[in-house]
Amino acid sequence: MSGVIGIYSNNAVSPSLFYGLNSLQHRGQESAGMAVFNGEEILRKRAMGLVIDGFDEETLAELPGNIGIGHVRYSKAGGAHDYNIQPVMGFIGGETIAIAHDGNLVNYQLLRARLEEEGMMFQTTNDTEVILYLITRYYESDIVEAIRRTMDVIEGAYSVTALMKGQVVAFRDPSGFRPLVLGRDGDDVIVASENAPIEIIGGEMTRNVEAGEILVIDETGIHSYPYEGENRARNCIFEYVYFARNDANLDDINAYTFRRRCGEILWKEAPCDVDLVVPVPDSGIPSAIGYAQASGIPFGEGLVKNRYMGRTFIKPTQKEREMAVKLKLNPLVDVVRGKSIVLLDDSIVRGTTSRNLIHRLREAGAKEVHMRITSPPVKYSCYYGIDTPNRKNLIAANQTIREIEENIGADSLAFISLEGLASAGKKEISRYCTACFDGDYPVDPTVI
Ligand code: SF4
Repeated sequence: MSGVIGIYSNNAVSPSLFYGLNSLQHRGQESAGMAVFNGEEILRKRAMGLVIDGFDEETLAELPGNIGIGHVRYSKAGGAHDYNIQPVMGFIGGETIAIAHDGNLVNYQLLRARLEEEGMMFQTTNDTEVILYLITRYYESDIVEAIRRTMDVIEGAYSVTALMKGQVVAFRDPSGFRPLVLGRDGDDVIVASENAPIEIIGGEMTRNVEAGEILVIDETGIHSYPYEGENRARNCIFEYVYFARNDANLDDINAYTFRRRCGEILWKEAPCDVDLVVPVPDSGIPSAIGYAQASGIPFGEGLVKNRYMGRTFIKPTQKEREMAVKLKLNPLVDVVRGKSIVLLDDSIVRGTTSRNLIHRLREAGAKEVHMRITSPPVKYSCYYGIDTPNRKNLIAANQTIREIEENIGADSLAFISLEGLASAGKKEISRYCTACFDGDYPVDPTVI
């Protein structure tokens, strides 16, 4: 998972890229990068770590120009190396091009092997470079045609922003797995993974970039080239469950409202007679509010979050993950002591977080700890850009709900149903990708 942004402006763009990328930081904390067009050439700066660590006033001053793109990266394909920081750059028709990508190509290995056989020398181990090479290969004089031909070849999830001489280009895969939205701030045009950057810069989101749509933004305006094939949008439902910010309005669904409704639905599907509804912050908060409002049981903040950490299932070893969970969330003894509680969380992936939290809530004096999860059991790996582990490490792929309940030490455990989850978004279930719950992969991942 990553975050992308592209801005076509009448003013210096690097400060807006900086603030915009900061608001997308939840989508990736491993590295950040920006590229701007200064009227003659594309300049680029990239750094490992958070946006705030890699970019300061001095760095931004070295990026003059009114149009630019940016990226925050959380590595899955490719691994954590500075050569994988995006945007990646290449040459197209004698000019430079920079590309930033959120998602994952399922046929990356295949395409890369073919391109290498043909003599392409790769500088990175990420799939964005394959997209770059294909666009530059197919480019004659028409960027839209080059992207269409590239889209005919690449398979999987991609929301892309690109920067060429005098143009910001954006496109989204025909399934629309990862989000991409469009907005305006006066005459400035912003395209980004979520609406928060647009609003923080001072603009307003105008619409979603449609699944399969290509946008070219230049001095003559915004030009849209819709997908010519059959509409097969299958937005990632996990964006609403966990990844997107609470204020995200993606493909006509607000993440906060979705999460709150999940809590209400869970109360109907799996009620619980307890003293207190406690969220696992942050994404568990709206669903705990929904559960509390629907049930009439008081809401209580029983866990305090350390806000200066990354996400836990990102950490590579089991021991590190356990330490990270402890550091990240601490029980609030005064709130939970002597109480029976229901704990609302967004998912159970390996079970580490839940086991640890329940154990520590009991140590803090909770009488009973019941768990309610606002996603169905995660039984399958994601191949579209979300770093779920291999199936052998997914607890729900290997244990029944009762076994998980025992394993994590909960007094009771229940997951929202898939139908319940889909109804929280008020769209047909067929409009979402739900593959990590039911194995129904919209794009065949076996071409890897
Ligand atoms: Fe999202 Fe799951 Fe589909 Fe991956 S498999 S895109 S996480 S719904």
